[in-house]
Amino acid sequence: MTGIGRGAKAGVLVRNAEALEMLEKADVLVVDKTGTLTTGKPAVTALLPAGGYNETSLLSLAAALEQGSEHPIAQAITQAASAKNLPLPKITGFTAIPGRGVCGDWEDEEVMLGNAGLVDGIDFSAFQAQAAKLQADGATVVYLAADGKPAGIIAVSDTVKANAAESIRALKMQNLRIIMLTGDAQGSADAVAKQLGISEVFAGVLPHDKAQVVKDLQKQGRLVAMAGDGVNDAPALAQADIGIAMGTGSDIALQSAGITLLHGDLSGILRARNLSKATLRNIRQNLFFAFVYNAAGVPVAAGILYPFFHILLSPIHAAAAMSLSSLSVILNALRLRRAKI
Ligand code: ADP
Ligand code: MG
Repeated sequence: MTGIGRGAKAGVLVRNAEALEMLEKADVLVVDKTGTLTTGKPAVTALLPAGGYNETSLLSLAAALEQGSEHPIAQAITQAASAKNLPLPKITGFTAIPGRGVCGDWEDEEVMLGNAGLVDGIDFSAFQAQAAKLQADGATVVYLAADGKPAGIIAVSDTVKANAAESIRALKMQNLRIIMLTGDAQGSADAVAKQLGISEVFAGVLPHDKAQVVKDLQKQGRLVAMAGDGVNDAPALAQADIGIAMGTGSDIALQSAGITLLHGDLSGILRARNLSKATLRNIRQNLFFAFVYNAAGVPVAAGILYPFFHILLSPIHAAAAMSLSSLSVILNALRLRRAKI
């Protein structure tokens, strides 16, 4: 891997030269929402219990279930419970369902927590209006069911990354088509997209469908860059012509990507594209330098000027020209250190 720029500020790692070259040529950028456009550090903002539950028992059961999950929503819920020092009931048979939620057993009840798709057969209609309102504010709503009955809903809110709007605007100026792809519900996705000026949104997308969206764009002849952070983004990152992982994200996402934004800073995409442009221009200039010296030197050395001017290239001058050619190439390449990226 190569680092771009000086110091930790730039924070872009490039796996190979091809990745950098492809990034500049990409015409579509597909971006994941949670952890990529948002900080991925959500907090619990609402607890709405149902049935025999109250806010405390809803939160402690949800937190007990989320203990086994690495998802940012899980962290928000477990942190909210530990901030209140809540004792957590014991859960057995924990399973995580990527892009949907988590399930397990509590005493003899089957409990599940996740998106609307996960609790499909359970009647949460009493929460419909409240859920829609929370989602319209950009919050993610998760549903907790125990023993086939609603136990309540939890709203978890994430904030958009500080410079995300600015980076998206700058990337759009470079004629890049931006598409948001998320496993979250349409309402929450639209609210975040609106804040960032993104008009194309695919919501409720399961992990393997993320890769399919990328594949479909490629079939339409697009060169696709994909930026994501989660385990659920890895297949799409691998499928994309160029994968961009957040250094703050999961290991598998990092392994699937050609470019890593160390601090998850989206402006790194812009810098990497600008650097790619500057590098390719520099390579062309260097080829020109190398070619001009040789184009001039070789015929003179071969004696083309001898019949007219009695000029031949002495070995000393030939050696000097050779070195100058290399020197100019190196000096030109070093200018990249000062490139404005
Ligand atoms: P994104 O594409 O935004 O990164 P994911 O694919 O990871 O989102 O998750 C999609 C949805 O599945 C979440 O919005 C949430 O509703 C649900 N979900 C996934 N994992 C969990 C979990 N551990 N706890 C609760 N809900 C979850
Ligand atoms: Mg994510």
